[in-house]
Amino acid sequence: MNGDNTNMTVRQKTSADLVIIGGGIMGLWAAYHAEKAGMDTLLVDREAPGRGASNGLLGALMAYMPDQWDEKKQFQFEALAALEDQLRLLEVETGLETGYRRSGRVMPLYQEQQVRTARLRADEAARNWRFGDQSFEWNVVEEPPDAGWPSRREAALAYVHETLAAHVAPRGVVAALKAFFATARHVRIIREDVAAIDAEAHRIVLSDGECMGFGKAIVSAGVGAFSLLQPLWAPQGQPLGRPVKGQAALLAADCDPALPIFFDNGLYVIAHAGGRVAIGSTSEDDFGDPCSTDDKLEALIAAARAAIPALRDAPVIERWAGLRPRGVHREPMIGALQCAPDVIALGGGFKTSFGIANRLADHAIGLASGNTPSAQDLPDIYSLEIYLRRANKKHG
Ligand SMILES: Cc1cc2nc3c(=O)[nH]c(=O)nc-3n(C[C@H](O)[C@H](O)[C@H](O)COP(=O)(O)OP(=O)(O)OC[C@H]3O[C@@H](n4cnc5c(N)ncnc54)[C@H](O)[C@@H]3O)c2cc1C
Repeated sequence: MNGDNTNMTVRQKTSADLVIIGGGIMGLWAAYHAEKAGMDTLLVDREAPGRGASNGLLGALMAYMPDQWDEKKQFQFEALAALEDQLRLLEVETGLETGYRRSGRVMPLYQEQQVRTARLRADEAARNWRFGDQSFEWNVVEEPPDAGWPSRREAALAYVHETLAAHVAPRGVVAALKAFFATARHVRIIREDVAAIDAEAHRIVLSDGECMGFGKAIVSAGVGAFSLLQPLWAPQGQPLGRPVKGQAALLAADCDPALPIFFDNGLYVIAHAGGRVAIGSTSEDDFGDPCSTDDKLEALIAAARAAIPALRDAPVIERWAGLRPRGVHREPMIGALQCAPDVIALGGGFKTSFGIANRLADHAIGLASGNTPSAQDLPDIYSLEIYLRRANKKHG
């Protein structure tokens, strides 16, 4: 259906069966699956796609703890485990590298209680971290598995070394997805700022006053999704989410990208290909300039240099900040709105979007194409009814 919603007062620039608002990691994967499904699709972004939060440096893909297992953890685990094949396919399709490495993760433990809990988790990982013929380990070890990554610390009683965590180069994934559309037959990418969604008239209103018609709309505008959905979905004004600023840095250091992600009390250090090491991330609710970096990032860089000798004199080649989309609870915002079933929310990935975006986007395209995506059933806790109830409760 190419809807024609033109009326006398609003000029309709164009229309499509599916309009995707926002081309970050969520919207790009949605467009990828739309192309595969042969859906007539417009991907609308106010900037070049991939310039929002998805333009970052870290790319950690980390699972939940292996204990207290539930369907949400299972969903995220399966999304992470399946991502490797999906990215390999994308690499073949585009000839571009995404920087995917299943490197595992190493974490120091400083308290006896942490060590006891970590030991119990090893059995839980053996039980729960299984995918097809693959299984992943959670081990408690006395020394870091790779000398100097990090250097042995007096205060550390032991280390967790797990083999499930992986990482990508965020800009590599974005570049590969964008390259995929170079030969797309069904997806067009358009640069426009969306001011509002008129669900009744099936059109999006652009900030220049013109509009675009849609059959279905997927709202994957990162932190911008909350305000676009607000008038439709929660007109009483309960905020549907908020931006949380994060800062990160990139150092030039020739470290093996197979080295495990180093994670210590909020500090991430990730060795990427090409002699680059990413360090992050701050998590800031109060901030002025969303794009600036400051001494909070310098403190993380100093902590990374202190922990890892190879970084001691490594030059910083980039400092970067972005805004994570944080929903009302920590779960993503995914599904068709009850009040406007042709509008589908796809966002709120907060700190985990790169691991789950492909799977959530596939689900969103299933909804948009009118199929009930049974193979990708979502955990109950992801339901939009629960999401809205939490928003109301929080602000009621
Ligand atoms: C410092 C930092 C470190 C991070 N580390 C990790 C990590 O290690 N692993 C991980 O998985 N995640 C990480 N994240 C989080 C991750 O980057 C985000 O969750 C993810 O990028 C969000 O993707 P998105 O597609 O929802 O939004 P975005 O990437 O922000 O994309 C939204 C797009 O929508 C467009 N848009 C917005 N409003 C409008 C509008 N009105 N009209 C038109 N276009 C619009 C924007 O231009 C943008 O292109 C990190 C984030 C930060 C800041």
